Amino acid sequence: MPSHDVLIIGAGLAGQRAALAAAQEGASVAIISKVHPVRSHSVAAAGGINAALNPEDSWESHAFDTVKGSDYLGDQDAIEIMTREAPNEILWLEHAGVTFHRNESGHLGTRAFGGASQARTYYVADITGHAILHVLYEQLMKHHETVNRYEEWFTTDVLLDDDGRCVGAICRNLKDGRLELFNAKATILASGGAGQAYKPTTNGLIVTGDGIAQAYRVGAKLMDMEMIQYHPTTLAGNGLLITEGARGEGAWLLNAEGDRFMESYAPNKLELASRDVVSRAEQTEINEGRGFDDGTVALDITKVPRRRTLEALREIVNIGRDFAGVDITREPIHIRPGMHYIMGGVKTDTDGLTTIPGLYAAGEVACVSVHGGNRLGANSLLDTLIFGRRSGEHAAKRALQMPMPSSPLSRLAETEREIDSILNREPGGPRIGAIKNELGETMNEYVAVFRDEDGLAKALEIVQRLKEQASKASIDDRGSVFNQDMIAAIELGYMLDCAEAIVVAAQERKESRGAQFRLDFPERNDDEWLKHIDITVNGAGPPKVSYSPVTITRWQPEERTY
Ligand SMILES: Cc1cc2nc3c(=O)[nH]c(=O)nc-3n(C[C@H](O)[C@H](O)[C@H](O)COP(=O)(O)OP(=O)(O)OC[C@H]3O[C@@H](n4cnc5c(N)ncnc54)[C@H](O)[C@@H]3O)c2cc1C
Repeated sequence: MPSHDVLIIGAGLAGQRAALAAAQEGASVAIISKVHPVRSHSVAAAGGINAALNPEDSWESHAFDTVKGSDYLGDQDAIEIMTREAPNEILWLEHAGVTFHRNESGHLGTRAFGGASQARTYYVADITGHAILHVLYEQLMKHHETVNRYEEWFTTDVLLDDDGRCVGAICRNLKDGRLELFNAKATILASGGAGQAYKPTTNGLIVTGDGIAQAYRVGAKLMDMEMIQYHPTTLAGNGLLITEGARGEGAWLLNAEGDRFMESYAPNKLELASRDVVSRAEQTEINEGRGFDDGTVALDITKVPRRRTLEALREIVNIGRDFAGVDITREPIHIRPGMHYIMGGVKTDTDGLTTIPGLYAAGEVACVSVHGGNRLGANSLLDTLIFGRRSGEHAAKRALQMPMPSSPLSRLAETEREIDSILNREPGGPRIGAIKNELGETMNEYVAVFRDEDGLAKALEIVQRLKEQASKASIDDRGSVFNQDMIAAIELGYMLDCAEAIVVAAQERKESRGAQFRLDFPERNDDEWLKHIDITVNGAGPPKVSYSPVTITRWQPEERTY
């Protein structure tokens, strides 16, 4: 049985940063990923990463922008930590080999991003996530003696002992179907978001909410689950992202009448208001008949000098050409708000500890909560790195002071039986793909930019019916080598759990704040709802709801305008 001080599930930016930090503390580490680490979804991150590094900027300004962006739901102690530690993290990355853009004077150059009062986004063209992920992977190689990489292994469950402490996880080697129990003194979930519960989404096929559901199933609290970010600029139909970097470089949003409509919604920040504000403005234009026939508005990147677009936004030049047949350097491209990010996740403290002893979470799977009701663009990469590192350090220190726990071996046989029961389902049952499509389309219809009680009730009813169907869905591949059919069945269960938690939390919050806009409760209501909604498992029934306070250190809630 593999035994390690620290077991990390996920090898995106949060997981790899955690692994490096834990190894540097002297811990033995296992890092597990269902895909090769550099194919983790962090590789798609485009526009950049925020830090108040310029002398004329300050962490306080970055923190205030983040608090305001969160619509005052973000916990300010966590936001202070993230923004204070950001400049050193950028320098650390630079020294490790990330080739951040430099300006004409040779200094690290920035671009503007939404909701920020300063241009403080550091970037590598529009492949920032790719650049950082590859550098972290190289750094991990230096620690090959203490960091064991389990690439293309799939975690099915996290394990608790009889006292309710996390003692490791069960994982399946995708190459041959072998199940293994991983024993660990501390386990860090770094398994990313849950975007595939929506259709379309900017998120890749692997982003299926595994860690959120696994933690929830063993009793960990989830928080802010209702807060789903719709990014303002995604392609209709396929959901592909056009980075906010385009608006940061000067692109405009136009309706079908050619009006720069953000002038009426956010006269000061225009296209660079926070994402919830811009997405709502676009959807309003579309709903009120000022959009194009394909349910979109236009992003005009021709406002950016062509040379600059070709240098700094080259990936979206390719995306425009390959997926929309548009040369973005010469004509506007049609876009609309699309599901992009989950602000909620597994509730943690500022060292990544969840409500289960021994279980940590960091990155998009977690909710610290630094994003509250709405994440600012380029704050997620920062979140993954700061809280990935802090979790790795804390978990390693904890692990080095304790003996190896013993894991309940019987659980291995239990998981084996569960997998066999999927493999042996009667043929002819409901199709996994069809259930997933209905789930995604339902979430995108009723739990999107605008919500109301009737739509949310419908969504819950459908999600619960789909849960029932999913338990009977049959698969075609009964083999053991790279059985993605069987993995898809397990992932579908995770997405359904996440979706149920999202809908229940959205029903519970009877106000509009950040990404949650309730047509039936259109105002923010600080008197009753300046609090987090926590979600916990409740046997086979619908999730249990409770509340926790928002931490306010120095910024009292104010009216939010851009
Ligand atoms: C198109 C796009 C562009 C973006 N651009 C930016 C940007 O410019 N700036 C910014 O700040 N943010 C950006 N974001 C958001 C940001 O990229 C993500 O929030 C962040 O990268 C998530 O990192 P992570 O480490 O938490 O998870 P991920 O990178 O998603 O990694 C998850 C890891 O967990 C593993 N895993 C998952 N489930 C299992 C399982 N069951 N068993 C084993 N392993 C598992 C995966 O294999 C993977 O290694 C963007 C997002 C998208 C979709």
